[in-house]
Amino acid sequence: MDPLGLCLDPIASSMNHSCDPNVSVVFDGPRLVVQALRPIKKDDELFISYVDATWPYERRQAELHDRYFFDCACSACVKGPTGHTDIFLDERSSRNPCDVEQSVLELMSQARPSEGTASLSLLLEALRKCEETKIWPSHRQPLPEIRRELFLQHIKSEHWAKALQQGLYLYFFVYPILHPQPFHPTRVIHVWTMAKIALYIASEGDDSVKSSLGVASLDLKIVVLGLLLEAEDNVKRSHGEDTRFAKVVHKKAEEIKLSLSQGEDPVIMKLQIPQQWELLRQLALRGEKEFT
Ligand SMILES: [Zn+2]
Repeated sequence: MDPLGLCLDPIASSMNHSCDPNVSVVFDGPRLVVQALRPIKKDDELFISYVDATWPYERRQAELHDRYFFDCACSACVKGPTGHTDIFLDERSSRNPCDVEQSVLELMSQARPSEGTASLSLLLEALRKCEETKIWPSHRQPLPEIRRELFLQHIKSEHWAKALQQGLYLYFFVYPILHPQPFHPTRVIHVWTMAKIALYIASEGDDSVKSSLGVASLDLKIVVLGLLLEAEDNVKRSHGEDTRFAKVVHKKAEEIKLSLSQGEDPVIMKLQIPQQWELLRQLALRGEKEFT
């Protein structure tokens, strides 16, 4: 689908917009794959979201009005700016979140065309401004977008430990709220990306990245296994079993299971996943500046 939402597929083009969609859409090469996000009864209307529905009410309304020429009155928008996309932790705070939001959006637009350190420092400044308000929930935009851009910028800059830590924060504390379904395409792609980062760190000859994570008992082999199993479990419902992405995930998961379990009992390895997840959660909570 292009940015204007034009689509020549007769079934896809019959789908209406909702900021609380009941289906997701992904591409498998030229093929459009539509997957249910929740149970859908016969004759129920299918809704996709034409915009990023994780943003606050005003922003969604403006974007839909400017790009698609309608005022959205979906089940989320009829409630106005009262949903989880909008509210702050304390609405009575003396700080004005609208002023902060404006300056944060400006920092983000300066960060986008920048590269490396310049982009990172602008994004970190934006993150700091949101967090200083002390009323900004971790799932309230633009905070998740700042973290996602930091995650991508750390990957580009090959800061693997920081990329993993930022990715883990999104994994534990942001995406489960923005996308409650573990099989939401955004979450499955994120899990897959983190599996690749963890695999890269685990297979690096240089131990400095591993030691900079600072969690001595972290076993990256188990982490890779856990992330791949999670991606494998959910890809059927996020993308469809016969898609190219699902096939790549299954192939990699099989390869890794085989190579990791040589000499080790795969059942025992799986039993270690919950303990490793507790360590990952602690890693996610540690501040950005701790990593070098
Ligand atoms: Zn709406």
